[in-house]
Amino acid sequence: MKGRALRAPKGTRDLLPPATGLWAAVEAEVHRIFALYGYREIRTPILEETELFARGVGEATDIVGKEMYTFTDRGGRSLTLRPESTAAVCRAYVEHGMQTLPQPVRLYYLGPQFRYERPQRGRYRQFHQIGAELLGGRGPASDVEILLLLVAFLRRLGFAELTVLLNTVGDAPSRAAYRAALLAYLEPRAAELGEESRRRLGTNPLRILDSKDPAEQELLAAAPRLADHLTPASREHFAAVRAHLDRLGVAYRVEPRLVRGLDYYTNTVFEVVSGDLGAQNAICGGGAYEGLVEELGGPPTYAVGFAIGADRLLEVLPAGSPLRAPGRHRGPVLLAAAGRLPESGDGVSPLTPIAERLRSEGVPVVETGARAPRLFQLAEQLGAPALAFVGEEELARGELSLRELGSREQTRLPFAEAADRLRRYYEEQP
Ligand code: AMP
Repeated sequence: MKGRALRAPKGTRDLLPPATGLWAAVEAEVHRIFALYGYREIRTPILEETELFARGVGEATDIVGKEMYTFTDRGGRSLTLRPESTAAVCRAYVEHGMQTLPQPVRLYYLGPQFRYERPQRGRYRQFHQIGAELLGGRGPASDVEILLLLVAFLRRLGFAELTVLLNTVGDAPSRAAYRAALLAYLEPRAAELGEESRRRLGTNPLRILDSKDPAEQELLAAAPRLADHLTPASREHFAAVRAHLDRLGVAYRVEPRLVRGLDYYTNTVFEVVSGDLGAQNAICGGGAYEGLVEELGGPPTYAVGFAIGADRLLEVLPAGSPLRAPGRHRGPVLLAAAGRLPESGDGVSPLTPIAERLRSEGVPVVETGARAPRLFQLAEQLGAPALAFVGEEELARGELSLRELGSREQTRLPFAEAADRLRRYYEEQP
């Protein structure tokens, strides 16, 4: 052996078949459902100028403060592997003058994100998000549109009993007033706070509300409430979102402590939970952000979006999800020789032209030299729906013998009929 075997970097992982089949099924559903709501795909670079996230996500956030993969390239520029995509989408909106297009602009993305976090179950350093952004929208109606998309997508994946957890973080004046009130309450009690929260007093006091520490939770129970510091405009906004959701029959629960970890949110913030999941399993989150496009050099733009953690989504995808239906994950038909076939002398197997004809008829197929029982093992491993055998007689008559794995029967059919029969396995879609 030469040299030590290498492993994928800590916190990253290889996605292998058959799991990649499920990823592809989820991605296909993203394209389908998001298009139903008029969203179109955007692909931004994996790398951005570091300043984008410093300005867009916020210097005081955990992401920017301690989780970014930042490096200097050979030209001396500071670049960062994207830790999230909203800031990049807004950058692209401004860079390409999308504010001059008919508004709102509806975009979605899927792809890897990078955060230097402590890896654990469901948390990776390279993870994947599926997200949508509505830019240039109209307030509460836009918030609700994006929530409808999110709920429709999760429902289509087989999640049941979906509930939107909803809160408002207010507009900028609401937050300034609340921040002052929260600091007035917490500063005299700083000694009762943990180290992390004490640090946040100086940087981002609203994030202290997110604390899971029982002692801090007790302290926070009596803290001033953001809801009592909302400006009339923010109060109206929140009431309108709730009224829309009521009217449309979307189940939601107001969670006054929901603040979310990114600085750019204004007014509406949300997560969606499913009865299928434990309480800890946040699979997605989002909200409105009124100031971000302007912060990145564009005009004042009302925007709202969400991001779903795809890795977690797949880990908790219900067993009964239509995306797990066997019809969507069939392996190729295995084509094998029955007995000895006449040699062509040039080393080309007589099975190869038959395999090519089947493929041109839309039947996935691999040739194999395996013999039973290895052949049946292989079929099971690959999820093959059927075996196709060619013996001397089949070869002479242009026929195929099919052994479908559901049944034990073997049927000999003319090629065209056999191809039809096999193709049907790949056509049925739940
Ligand atoms: P955020 O961009 O922080 O609002 O996160 C949105 C979603 O992305 C979360 O609900 C998670 O499902 C997922 N997520 C965030 N960070 C990670 C991570 N390190 N590993 C896996 N999923 C993540």
